[in-house]
Amino acid sequence: MSELACYAAREDNSKGRIFGEPQPEHRNQYQRDRDRIIHSAAFRRLEYKTQVFVNHEGDMFRTRLTHSIEVAQIGRTIARALKLNEDLTEAICLAHDLGHTPFGHAGQDVLNNCMKDYGGFEHNLQSLRVVDLLEERYADFPGLNLLFETREGILKHCSRKHAVKLGDLGRRFLEGGQPGLEAQVANIADEIAYNNHDVDDGLRSGLIATEQLKVCELFSDQYDIVSRQWPDLSERRLIHEIVRRMINTLVGDLIANSRTKIDQYQPADIDTVRSLPVPLIGLGEEILNKHMELKRFLRKNLYQHDRVQQMTGKAKQTVKTLFEVYMADTGLFPKDVQLRLNKEEDIAGASGRARVIADYIAGMTDRFAIAELERIN
Ligand code: MG
Repeated sequence: MSELACYAAREDNSKGRIFGEPQPEHRNQYQRDRDRIIHSAAFRRLEYKTQVFVNHEGDMFRTRLTHSIEVAQIGRTIARALKLNEDLTEAICLAHDLGHTPFGHAGQDVLNNCMKDYGGFEHNLQSLRVVDLLEERYADFPGLNLLFETREGILKHCSRKHAVKLGDLGRRFLEGGQPGLEAQVANIADEIAYNNHDVDDGLRSGLIATEQLKVCELFSDQYDIVSRQWPDLSERRLIHEIVRRMINTLVGDLIANSRTKIDQYQPADIDTVRSLPVPLIGLGEEILNKHMELKRFLRKNLYQHDRVQQMTGKAKQTVKTLFEVYMADTGLFPKDVQLRLNKEEDIAGASGRARVIADYIAGMTDRFAIAELERIN
């Protein structure tokens, strides 16, 4: 790792792991976290989870796995340019979607609804649950026992109700304050990645068209440059040339603007960063407005497109039916899930049962959820 700035996360000021462990021999602590995330079952399952398009709709679209890799790649570039901890940034980026249900946001919304009498369901909190509790890989502790800073980055949002139960990790959601800069980078890298790859996937799917996108300045700025320089470019190459230039514009602006903010506040260390009233990593006003314009365009024209909504409707019904059937019928689960369910039901009754079912459903891939519905219904 190149030289770290004073405000970066570092091993000597890390808040450490819940369960003490010896220093890794050939890696630093953050590389260890990244490796644990990559080796987890939840990470592998991201390959078959939806981003916008349902996984079996076509092999050319992004899944949560390729999305997470793109986020990590963008995050690392920004982290290195700002002399932040690149390994930590990568770990947070790769883990940020581990708690996502099958079928993207539609799955999360309906599961939250099913769980409303049992404590609700939040995908960010679920990502933390995966790394803190649900992964079974170590003899000495549950979960992956990640560093505080990695867990802090994974927990992007959290309701007050849940934050009070999280101790130090939940404090910023109750008292204000920021996460470390690596977490801030991962958060924006996520937005840059999905806005741009959704343009790419949206165009390839035919649900949106180049002509339509020209109302977004971020797109039309690059469209004008590229089509002027290469007037005879094929559609495919034109789109890719535009998308990569949009990513470059956003990343460049983010680095420049964040540098200015860091200079302005001059944080002496990561704890100073945490106590500031504002985040230091962010786009400048002009590019931010263009970025938000594109985001609104995608919401209206892609995420709410009839065909996407149709898939979303089916997906919601699948998750809802699975939850209801599981709640009503014992004996439908694999043995390990059944054992956990019995245990949690003894402790917390219906809430305990519902939580194990939510964990089980959230862990499913799109195709497993569909097959499971056929099996049990
Ligand atoms: Mg994401």
